[in-house]
Amino acid sequence: MSNNCEDVRAALHHGDMFLCNNDDPKCKADVWKKFRLIKIKATNELLFGWSACKDCFICLKFKAKQTDGSVRLYGTKNLADHCKTCSPKGETQSSVASFFKKTPGKHFTREEGKRVKDAEVRMVVQGGTSFMFVDNPGLRLFAQKMIQIGSMYGNLDVNDVLFGRETVKKSTFEKMTECQEKIKKSIAECSLNKMVTFTTDLATDNINHNSYLDFTVFWIDSSWTLNNSMYRCSYFPEKHTAVNIEKVIDENLSCGHAMYY
Ligand SMILES: [Zn+2]
Repeated sequence: MSNNCEDVRAALHHGDMFLCNNDDPKCKADVWKKFRLIKIKATNELLFGWSACKDCFICLKFKAKQTDGSVRLYGTKNLADHCKTCSPKGETQSSVASFFKKTPGKHFTREEGKRVKDAEVRMVVQGGTSFMFVDNPGLRLFAQKMIQIGSMYGNLDVNDVLFGRETVKKSTFEKMTECQEKIKKSIAECSLNKMVTFTTDLATDNINHNSYLDFTVFWIDSSWTLNNSMYRCSYFPEKHTAVNIEKVIDENLSCGHAMYY
């Protein structure tokens, strides 16, 4: 039986498959706190090699059976990578319960499903986004939030619910400042023990050819855990010379007095 992520996710959605904990004592990696194994309802057997994120239900393979019967291990790196980008917290977290139909008796018909698919196609085409965006955990959380609101308040006008771009832009920068303050606080103590370092990288986007410079900090906390976080990513139109890069690095270092390295 060969599956792809979308088939498995659809089967989970329709209740033909369900999530179960990975009780294998050999699987101690942190990813198994977030990822679940998948069982087929009809046979109560595990769907070999597949796992699903309990928060956004993205389905990822960690091993596969080869044609000669041997098992190929993919490892848990892509699961771990997913954990970094999908961290729903507090009320935005969609629980398993909220993923499955909350109103028994109301069937999500195939026709309705087709309309959802058409709407997703329209979103990708009209929005000019990549196909990958459809799997984006942020979009999934957003859609779940909208469904939740709809179930509480009914068929509201989307324009009465969503905020405009100026508000979102302003909030994004507020969020950025909030995150930077958090990072500064986290590393303040570690910097006393000289357990902080940083790196920087330049990237140019393929479409507008704008350059950006990011500044990522790494710190080891009191429990010897290595943490990392991107502190800032800024537009960098200047020439990529050492002098210009140094200027931005110094700026980043001085804007957090705690950021000694
Ligand atoms: Zn997820």
